Amino acid sequence: MFNSLKGLLITLVSTMNGLRDPVTRQYPDSGTLGKRQDEPTPVQDRFMGFPALTWDGDVGEPFCTSCMVCIRQCPTQCMSSVMKDNPLHEEGKSSRRKIVDTFEINLNRCILCGICVEVCNFDAIVMTHEHEMSAFNRNSIRVDLPVLLEIGHKFQKETGWIPPTQRAKAQKDGEADAETAATGTDSQ
Ligand code: SF4
Ligand code: SF4
Repeated sequence: MFNSLKGLLITLVSTMNGLRDPVTRQYPDSGTLGKRQDEPTPVQDRFMGFPALTWDGDVGEPFCTSCMVCIRQCPTQCMSSVMKDNPLHEEGKSSRRKIVDTFEINLNRCILCGICVEVCNFDAIVMTHEHEMSAFNRNSIRVDLPVLLEIGHKFQKETGWIPPTQRAKAQKDGEADAETAATGTDSQ
């Protein structure tokens, strides 16, 4: 009898705690049972949502040269792109001889595998935090270049994105400097 009451009390306390400070939530609402908040579902930094294209703010153009590497490697063949001669290269403002002209991803077919990001040599594509893009019709979520750049730019701003090659170079330089300093200290 006593043990049964004890069990009931533990269940009651857990229920009250859960109602006051829930660890789960009613998607897509957030907040507590008493106070609902209309805000996007929070995600972790490492979360992989839909892929999008990045913007090179220093030059004022996309990073993507439409080299087709990601398109060839995509397991679901949901991407397509066309390249063009880069007018900014002709003006001497960009080192990219070719630049993306059109780009499309059929997000209905994307399986969020991240292979496109892995194979891109130009820091041009990222797995963003975008994930709430459900639709009722098959093939209705085909996103074009302006939308991909908008999603990518939003991700860059929100996360303080640094191009991976730039980050790797900075890390390598830092390690080389530390090694030089250590060698200098040893030889004194
Ligand atoms: S995103 Fe990268 S791999 Fe894909 S076409 Fe553009 S530059 Fe090439
Ligand atoms: S995440 Fe995978 S499926 Fe989606 S576009 Fe990239 S390579 Fe294709």
